[in-house]
Amino acid sequence: MKFLELQKSLDERVEQGLYRHRRILNSGQKTQVIIGDESLLNFASNDYLGLASQQAVKGAISSSVDQYGFGSGASHLICGHQKPHQDLEDALAQFVNREAALTFSTGYMANLAILQSLAKKGDVIIADKLNHASLIDGARLSSAESKRYSHCDMTMLEQRLSHSKQNKFVVTDSVFSMDGDLAPLKEIVRLCEKYNAVLIVDDAHGFGVLGETGSGICEALGLTPKEVPVLMATLGKSLGGYGAFVAGEKALIDYLIQFGRSYIYTTAMPAVIASGNLTNLNYLRNNPEILLRLKKNIKYFKSQCYQNNIDLLPSDTAIQPMLVGSNEALLRLNEKLFSDGFLVGAIRPPTVAEDSARLRITVSAEHNQQQIDELVASLAKNK
Ligand SMILES: *Cc1c(COP(=O)(O)O)cnc(C)c1O
Repeated sequence: MKFLELQKSLDERVEQGLYRHRRILNSGQKTQVIIGDESLLNFASNDYLGLASQQAVKGAISSSVDQYGFGSGASHLICGHQKPHQDLEDALAQFVNREAALTFSTGYMANLAILQSLAKKGDVIIADKLNHASLIDGARLSSAESKRYSHCDMTMLEQRLSHSKQNKFVVTDSVFSMDGDLAPLKEIVRLCEKYNAVLIVDDAHGFGVLGETGSGICEALGLTPKEVPVLMATLGKSLGGYGAFVAGEKALIDYLIQFGRSYIYTTAMPAVIASGNLTNLNYLRNNPEILLRLKKNIKYFKSQCYQNNIDLLPSDTAIQPMLVGSNEALLRLNEKLFSDGFLVGAIRPPTVAEDSARLRITVSAEHNQQQIDELVASLAKNK
């Protein structure tokens, strides 16, 4: 293994302040988590609605285990496709107003399947520069040509579109995962129509957050299924579960079942996970007021930061980043927050661009005002 020089790369990461540690949680995913013997307030997770540890899902999972056991035993196409998977797909399709939906074990795999199977040799994929890594990897896996445009730069997107004669796919996050800002989707839809391109939207951070019922970016902006023909979202974030789905026309879903390699050649998620996802989806449908609680907390957090001269990146979503710049400064700040009892995401390159290391603060519907006040006080003191 010596020729690989693994240790050298690891040492370099440490020197550059880029080494990643995993913290071990001794608790469920909640607003209050336990690390070692310490209790911390959690402003780092994507469990925006507090559904990961809610009571109803624990009960649903226990009864699903009694009926279906644990492992699914095989891939979906062999014999791993159980009733909870199908029920979840039907419910998701209805919720996002699409003909059909297909669940995947992870969002990463869903994005690989979409791009690998839809974009062919001779086609072109045109992607926002700040898209999630799984979309970048999906483009690498496909035989299509791949082009990027500067973040949300519609002039550059139009240039890319007008210069491409091939079949075109435009790919974008709806809510950018490390910035929290929204893609200008109405404008993107207009350009896709003008240049006859297929739009693929990754709504991982919009699903369960945006829109009156929480069905995501399309609901929030009034975009039709025809305007966003390929919609992908994850179940491990606001839904507090695990997995992902793609929704669209029946032919799209059937095509992914037949040709999506990361759908076909992998074991189905355990039925118990599908049951948990479905329970949380139904919980959201029956309790839309949690979306208002989240919105209220986001607004409150932003206003308190503003009053305390804490500069945040412009975002109205649950992702509220505070730009720091250097890796070292970010790690120092994050350690101070940690010793004050706050768990916050410290995001560094290559996840984000050089010199744009940042705190990624995430707000949940389950935070109370006092917890938000305490975080803001610690940020004001340590920034
Ligand atoms: C988290 C995320 C994914 C990957 O989803 P997983 O289910 O965690 O694999 C894909 N796209 C975006 C924008 C994400 O934030």
